[in-house]
Amino acid sequence: MDFNLSEREKMIHSTSREFAVKVVLPRAAEIDCTSEFPRDVVRDMVKMGYFGLAYPAEYGGSGSGYLSYALVIEQLARASMTVGAIVAVSILSQESLFRFGSEAQKREFLVPLVQGKILGCFCFTEPGTGSDPKAVAAKANLEAGQYVIEGQKNFISMASAASQATVFAKDETGRISAFIVPTSVAGFQLREPCETLGLRGFGACVVYLDSVRVPKGNLLGEKGGGYEVMLEAISVERVGVAAQAVGVAQAALDLSVEYAGQRIAYEKPIARMPTIQWFLAEMASRIEAGRWLAYRTAFLRDEGQSIRNDSAVAKLFCSQMAVEVTRMAMQVHGAYGTMKSLPVERLYRDAKMTEVYVGVSEIQRAIIASHLIK
Ligand SMILES: Cc1cc2nc3c(=O)[nH]c(=O)nc-3n(C[C@H](O)[C@H](O)[C@H](O)COP(=O)(O)OP(=O)(O)OC[C@H]3O[C@@H](n4cnc5c(N)ncnc54)[C@H](O)[C@@H]3O)c2cc1C
Repeated sequence: MDFNLSEREKMIHSTSREFAVKVVLPRAAEIDCTSEFPRDVVRDMVKMGYFGLAYPAEYGGSGSGYLSYALVIEQLARASMTVGAIVAVSILSQESLFRFGSEAQKREFLVPLVQGKILGCFCFTEPGTGSDPKAVAAKANLEAGQYVIEGQKNFISMASAASQATVFAKDETGRISAFIVPTSVAGFQLREPCETLGLRGFGACVVYLDSVRVPKGNLLGEKGGGYEVMLEAISVERVGVAAQAVGVAQAALDLSVEYAGQRIAYEKPIARMPTIQWFLAEMASRIEAGRWLAYRTAFLRDEGQSIRNDSAVAKLFCSQMAVEVTRMAMQVHGAYGTMKSLPVERLYRDAKMTEVYVGVSEIQRAIIASHLIK
């Protein structure tokens, strides 16, 4: 086993840290406070090539790999989880097209996403379900060479900024198919923005699909094969969520170490107290375990392996770890941890989101358990 990063990965790691500190960190509180999607930061990330890390040059990427994707997201999320999540979630549409698109679809729809010329969104969740594909109610009927899509999709990340959507709907055979839908088509409507506990400024909206028409050729993958597209794309995105969780938890530890060194109680810094040291040590050891789990899963993907089980393990562990670590950070900060003027409470709210979005923890456990007992 080689636990060393390559020279290129080391460089990506250090430049993304620098970028996160200089460009993202000064904006983090404002993004959270205003809930405004940070388009200018996205433009800067495009220049850094952060939307094309995992994909080869022939499709507009840098071919740096999935581990580089995880490294960058960790550093971005350490500054602002919303910004890390923008890069992380972008891989859903990209991976769907890369694995399941025809060559013509890759050229037309994947390349602009990878180059960062446009953003994509991924429309699976509905009012009636986020976990159960059988309960998907959106319909796509074939009429005169076009699919006509009707339905409602909830909690769609970046919908407010996306130019292209991967939409899941039941075709006329009753099976789920995936469709590439430009968001400019008639009937693709953004409704209420989703105001969430954390991950604010993520552009998540309710989307209505009101007789949306796309050419037959916009079917992605096999007809009726939409669930497979979803499972594969989500397995990669889970690495991104694990990396976000590690980044947020690391930020909470950084702040806690600093605060514990400055805060005086009983005439000495609280960092000298065994209880505080216990918190710091627990936080550090859990983060380190999560970090290597996330890196290893990304590495397996770089090796060309399926990571459906490994990424469920990484997401489950890292999201729970981030919730626990940020809770400990709140405790180290005492009453100040609860204040809006300090970043710890934002980290705590953001960490909670990692247990929910891209599949709740209970679904991750179900995936892992079925892998164990099959
Ligand atoms: C900020 C944010 C961004 C999101 N972005 C997107 C996006 O871009 N695209 C998209 O399609 N969706 C998105 N989602 C939706 C998200 O993926 C779903 O909310 C999530 O999968 C859970 O679905 P649900 O809320 O419908 O929960 P439900 O499926 O209703 O589940 C509710 C609870 O029931 C339990 N449960 C359900 N099924 C099982 C099971 N099989 N085994 C055990 N327990 C179970 C769990 O405890 C679960 O928490 C986003 C959500 C948020 C909050």
